[in-house]
Amino acid sequence: MSVASEKREMTDGLRVIVSGGSMGGMFTALALLEGGHDVEVFERAAGELAERGAGIVVQPRMLEYLENRGIARPDEFTLSTNRREYLNRDGSVREGRADSMTFTGWDTLYRRLRGTVEDDRYHAGRVVGFERDGEAVAVRFENGAERRADLLVVAEGGRSETREQLLPDVGPEYAGYVAWRGLIDERDVSRELVERFEDTFLFFEGERQLVLGYLIPGPDGGTWAGERRLNWVWYDNVRDGDRLEGLLTDSRGVEHDFSVAPGGLREGVERELRASAEELPDVFSRLVGKTEKPFVQTVYDLTVPRMTAGRVCLVGDAAFVARPHTAAGTAKAAADAIELGAALDGRDRSEVESALETWEGRRLAAGRRLVREGVRMGEGYMD
Ligand SMILES: Cc1cc2nc3c(=O)[nH]c(=O)nc-3n(C[C@H](O)[C@H](O)[C@H](O)COP(=O)(O)OP(=O)(O)OC[C@H]3O[C@@H](n4cnc5c(N)ncnc54)[C@H](O)[C@@H]3O)c2cc1C
Repeated sequence: MSVASEKREMTDGLRVIVSGGSMGGMFTALALLEGGHDVEVFERAAGELAERGAGIVVQPRMLEYLENRGIARPDEFTLSTNRREYLNRDGSVREGRADSMTFTGWDTLYRRLRGTVEDDRYHAGRVVGFERDGEAVAVRFENGAERRADLLVVAEGGRSETREQLLPDVGPEYAGYVAWRGLIDERDVSRELVERFEDTFLFFEGERQLVLGYLIPGPDGGTWAGERRLNWVWYDNVRDGDRLEGLLTDSRGVEHDFSVAPGGLREGVERELRASAEELPDVFSRLVGKTEKPFVQTVYDLTVPRMTAGRVCLVGDAAFVARPHTAAGTAKAAADAIELGAALDGRDRSEVESALETWEGRRLAAGRRLVREGVRMGEGYMD
């Protein structure tokens, strides 16, 4: 019997609905199931979420958390580098220093987390509203269904509709640049190109541009040579509204607000990207050139004035989005969830609101700090 189910048998846990089954939702489910609560997760997106995302930096605390719970040992799903190098345009090294970083794939980490939540607790469904209902919250779904819970955790990401209901004046603010991204199987590029990234986190800083690359495990966590993938990110200033709109319109003519998924870039946009990449140091131009399905995400900031309202709370990107330079979005979602678990520990349904207030006091400060840090780092790189 798992720790979570053992504890559930001993205590009369809270009934919790989590809206959003991505990273924030999974960490929340994990933390609250461990606390003996009765958790149901609802995800609006059809299909496998693990198909999403690219490389992410993993913070040491997260590694410790996953290892302590037996979810994953670092050597099973991460790769590390011990050096950071900044290249000149001609490919020579401008600056190099010792620096330890650990990386994984979004999909690799997500699969591990998803595996901790039983299938009968993870449902397809889109939350469309909620109402206070005495000492409970009534949650409404797109298919007309309604469920009562003691707590609704909103883990709907940066474009959360439930947050819009709670805080209509708050929304993501475009930072003035985008992240072109790509993933490529190491077997699809030359050995010599892969070797350039062995043990080294590589960067190129151009005029209002920043490109970086690193090796990540294969989709199922394979860390051996031959199983890995190369991940690159190219931050590019796009202040012109027309250009931004153009590159966020996908190959089917659909206009997106924040990103175009792999395989969705219009031919002209992709061609332009590949042509501009010719100006990058050779290692990066070859990576971009060989990437089959590059994609784009806008960089934005989001700050909320509060994270709770009655029996509803916001976690992860639904509350704060810090720029990717902080490499901490996933760790922040995890910390929101872990501290929520701690705040609710031993509380009964009459104490949910006061527990949320205590939790909010801690997490608001952490979220604000991280967003400020992201803006500061972004200004250093991109302005
Ligand atoms: C370029 C880039 C690089 C990044 N690099 C890193 C990194 O190196 N390290 C790091 O830690 N983080 C990184 N991040 C950030 C990280 O991906 C996020 O912070 C993290 O995934 C937050 O997860 P979330 O669950 O809060 O939100 P999301 O991943 O956005 O998930 C929200 C989920 O909610 C679902 N949903 C939305 N509305 C509803 C609804 N009404 N009902 C039901 N479901 C709903 C959505 O379908 C989605 O699955 C990066 C982000 C970007 C853009």
